[in-house]
Amino acid sequence: MAREAEPSRILIFGGTGYIGKHIARASVAFGHPTCIYARPAGPRTKPLNLDLRREFRSTGIRIIEGELDEHEKIVTALKQVDIVISALAYPQVPDQLKIIDAIVAAGNIKRFVPSDFGCEEDKITPLPPFEEFLEKKRKIRRATEAAGIPFTFVATNCLAAYFINVLLHPHSPHDEIVVYGDGEANAVLNYEEDVGKYTIKVANDPRACNRVVSYRPKPSIISQHQLISLWEEKTGRSFKRVYVPEEDLVKLSQTLPPPENIPVSILHSIFVKGDLMSYEIDDDDLEVSRMYPEMQLTTIDQLLNIFLTDPPEPARAAFG
Ligand code: NDP
Repeated sequence: MAREAEPSRILIFGGTGYIGKHIARASVAFGHPTCIYARPAGPRTKPLNLDLRREFRSTGIRIIEGELDEHEKIVTALKQVDIVISALAYPQVPDQLKIIDAIVAAGNIKRFVPSDFGCEEDKITPLPPFEEFLEKKRKIRRATEAAGIPFTFVATNCLAAYFINVLLHPHSPHDEIVVYGDGEANAVLNYEEDVGKYTIKVANDPRACNRVVSYRPKPSIISQHQLISLWEEKTGRSFKRVYVPEEDLVKLSQTLPPPENIPVSILHSIFVKGDLMSYEIDDDDLEVSRMYPEMQLTTIDQLLNIFLTDPPEPARAAFG
């Protein structure tokens, strides 16, 4: 069989992470020979990470253990694959320059998806702490382009379970829900499993080569008020809405020490300013629900049903 007809081979950095595990699972589920490049497991590796490694091995995912500064090891790993996806944590975003160097040295990589997994960073200008965060990710985009590596940049918007935990706190008993700003701005919440699947699809899609892809399906667009009302319907409860005005978030972004000033700046951008919906997606832009209309995505309504029965654990992204 011609090489083109075979499924592409995928290497994932950060594959044991919060979003990386969904990408790794989707990759193997779609039939791609999949490997992850992970730090060597040791006494300080968290049990959850070890469980994932066991799960991955059982599903045929190969684990290459190594550090990010092991250039030769990374080059050797890259020579055995076609596509590289990085889902490294934010503090490791600058380390992706090492991956870029290795991709150039290997010379065979057909697509690189760097660790964006958030807003469309080339289209928004948030408060300074979030702006600095995005600037680090933009530098990786620019270095990828400058190196002439075929890329896909993904604007996945909010990871839905992550932000439902942040906004609704379904795990803890309470009568109040905090509303940032006036609660009317629309955000985009995409379920992590769907983000994993879409990411594997776009990484393999010739249409997405050297393009930005937005993940903005209509059913994922929701305001805080709509989300709270939907949760009230589901739980049969009524929550007191406690408002945090924009000025308070701006002040916190100026007074909290780094990196705590980053999450408040993110909340301001997404839920007060409505940055995720602040630009048009026109016919020439790539958007996942238009690219893959056949894919059944998990609606926010369905995700809240999951939260009722088997709530996804809260997570906190690393900011520093
Ligand atoms: P995680 O914090 O879960 O970490 C991902 C992986 O990075 C880890 O599993 C680990 O892999 C590797 N890693 C962590 N620390 C180090 C280190 N010191 N040296 C080398 N490797 C390390 O990442 P997330 O999934 O939270 O974040 C991935 C991306 O998603 C980021 O770009 C982040 O900004 C974004 N994000 C977006 C969200 C959204 O709602 N849009 C929410 C959360 C994150 P291993 O142990 O296998 O080596």
